[in-house]
Amino acid sequence: MTSAQRCGLRRKFPLLSYLENQGWKPTAYGDRDEVYGRCPLHFDSRPSFYVNRRKQVFYCHGCGQGGDVIRLVERLHHVDFPTALSILGWEQTSNSQGLWQDACDFYRHQLRTSVDAESYLHRRGIDHAEVVERMGIGYAPGGCLRGYLHDLGYSRSQLVASRLVDGQGRDCLWRAITFPIAETASLYGRAIDVTAARHRFLARAKGGLWGWEWARQSEKVIVVEGLFDLASLWQAGFPQAVALLGSHFLPQQQAQLCDGRSRTVYLCLDADENGSGPRAARLWSERLANQRLRLLTVQLPQGYDPNRFFSEGGSAAEFSRYLEEAER
Ligand SMILES: [Zn+2]
Repeated sequence: MTSAQRCGLRRKFPLLSYLENQGWKPTAYGDRDEVYGRCPLHFDSRPSFYVNRRKQVFYCHGCGQGGDVIRLVERLHHVDFPTALSILGWEQTSNSQGLWQDACDFYRHQLRTSVDAESYLHRRGIDHAEVVERMGIGYAPGGCLRGYLHDLGYSRSQLVASRLVDGQGRDCLWRAITFPIAETASLYGRAIDVTAARHRFLARAKGGLWGWEWARQSEKVIVVEGLFDLASLWQAGFPQAVALLGSHFLPQQQAQLCDGRSRTVYLCLDADENGSGPRAARLWSERLANQRLRLLTVQLPQGYDPNRFFSEGGSAAEFSRYLEEAER
């Protein structure tokens, strides 16, 4: 890519608008063209992230990272250059929301007709119709999304740009339970077969904490890794749960928890054999320590996450005892 092309992209996707769409707010206006605020790329206790409005570039004096909007998207979402461009392009298309909504509706409908999907959900202990409905859970059978969306009038290039379908016309999510990620018009797919790659996301930003809009008013918030964990907690009567969609906090998720309210956060991350859960919990206890948060680590039995805990018969009362234990 020539520098002229890169300049063109900077004009097409203005850095400051992108940041503001992501919920970033400048805390102050500096000299001339500069605004600054907290860095979205690292844990920033005081504003060290500078944006030059004229040049549409950023530099952070805290973590030393800098560049243009594409660089920011790469760093923010841990993606490569082509994916960063696709994320930017997708967010700008006016009918991308409609296309995403239509795909979600299609998947939701497929769930009601698939025996395989139904028995998979049953095995994972997800059987409350209202939770399935509220989370928008669906099923991607594979091999028929393109035709369906084509009949609704979407062009092949729109479908490819959406990443719902690849360049060869194949569904990107297939034989997978689907969960919509409304914030970024994305989808998460959990393969129902043991052989395939288990976790699939559309090439898109993950956004903030899944479920935050319902949990944010709670004084106690339970943070879990995945959407099956969240579904299990909702079913068991713990509506104040949110999901990371992975084992790492993204800057935006961190900002949500650190919005200035006092709250207790229970980290209920996977206790697998490799210890990534407890390690992540320790790391975040350190990083969030100076906020108005009380951070507690919930230790489920070795090898259990909330989904497995409940699907193997764990009760709400037992889970509450683990929450209480975390208090000590
Ligand atoms: Zn920084």
